[in-house]
Amino acid sequence: MQKHANKRMLLIEDSRMFSTVLKHGLETIHGLSVTHCATFAAAQDAVKGNPGEFALAVLDLNLPDGPNCEALDYVIANGIAAVVFTGSFNDETRGHVLARGVVDCVIKNQPDSISHVISVVDRVLTNASTHVLLVDSKKESRAELLTLLRQQQFQVSQAVDGAGALAALDGSEMIELVVTDLSLSDMSAHVLLAEIRQRHGDDGVGVIALAASEDRRQAARFLQNGGTEFIPKPFLVDEFNSRIFHVANIRRRIQMLHNIAARDYLTDIYNRRYFFQHGPRLVDQCLRRGQTTSIAILDIDHFKRLNDTYGHEVGDLVLKAVAGRLRTLVGENHLLARLGGEEFGVLFNSLPVGEANSFCEMLREELAKTKVVADDEELSVTVSIGLATIETLESFDNYLNAADQFLYMAKYNGRNRIVSELTLLQSMTA
Ligand code: GH3
Ligand code: MG
Ligand code: MG
Repeated sequence: MQKHANKRMLLIEDSRMFSTVLKHGLETIHGLSVTHCATFAAAQDAVKGNPGEFALAVLDLNLPDGPNCEALDYVIANGIAAVVFTGSFNDETRGHVLARGVVDCVIKNQPDSISHVISVVDRVLTNASTHVLLVDSKKESRAELLTLLRQQQFQVSQAVDGAGALAALDGSEMIELVVTDLSLSDMSAHVLLAEIRQRHGDDGVGVIALAASEDRRQAARFLQNGGTEFIPKPFLVDEFNSRIFHVANIRRRIQMLHNIAARDYLTDIYNRRYFFQHGPRLVDQCLRRGQTTSIAILDIDHFKRLNDTYGHEVGDLVLKAVAGRLRTLVGENHLLARLGGEEFGVLFNSLPVGEANSFCEMLREELAKTKVVADDEELSVTVSIGLATIETLESFDNYLNAADQFLYMAKYNGRNRIVSELTLLQSMTA
């Protein structure tokens, strides 16, 4: 899985050599979609033609039709993060360019300049998808840090003290990193850290503290107590940027691993492991709200026959199509997973019995209508569904066993149907 797959960026560069190598590198390493423009005019057309589409731009300062940073001004004016890649450079120009709000400048014609651009792009995109909570009781240093973090493209919220920080964390699951001064007006960062670890677990949020570097024991204590990083003040801007990115990057990679572990390789929906990990918690939440819910197992009918007739590859295509359709139909609110083979589980998030039955009926009908084209033929399959009501707290296996027994009855009664407590009751009273 590529880290920045499907994101779009602009490459404004008139040198054929640099643009070819960079485009290739950025596309193969990060999975980005790169639009290359060799002139300022082409860059303007690309931005106008794709408003809001580009996550960032890597650009040369000197272009044939824009010798004086016109492209840079244009990109920044359009709210696109800019990374400058240029030949001529001294500290003064670098200062001027950075003051315009550029994320970074990379000098051409150095042995590692291409790989440097590629890693800066990674930093920009990683930061842009990371939400930071900045906590500092001193207005001026908060403003300074805010400018630095925003320039590095982080999404930033602010709190003026520890209580404000804890309230912000309770109110938003989006915050991944806390950057805090060591001494806040109402508590120290040590106390804030302990409180965060207690409420949000050991790897819920990364906590980075900043402090004057006189007392090294403070840093040691902060890290020993589960702090993620400690940045001594004063710091160099590049050092600050690198340390915070480093933390954001590790978190992003851990998230990717979690995501890989939770998904089924063939269909990309959640797998059995995820279903068993998160299912019990969802049931618990429903029952504590005093709401009934249901669990369904869907099994494709005569799938072995389909495999035997058309081959395993076509079988795989059908599985992907069924999973994709289920993903759309079930939506984000309920928990869907591939439990194994041609079997899927849906755990409803608080749905009254009647509604769960109608929902499953809708799934059954829609899946029967889903067509898969393979070998110039249109294939379709049906599913049988066992649906069990969850009213009291039992083991998660018990709920699944109940649904499995209903599924067995659905198969026995002719397939392409639902069996649940409700349908059994209806058939008895019919
Ligand atoms: P029923 O209507 O009773 O459910 O019959 P069935 O043929 O669907 O059920 P059975 O359990 O006998 O067969 C399931 C088949 O699913 C057998 C297995 O080869 C196939 N299968 C399991 N996993 C995969 C997979 O990942 N890809 C493909 N193509 N087939 C799979
Ligand atoms: Mg089957
Ligand atoms: Mg089966």
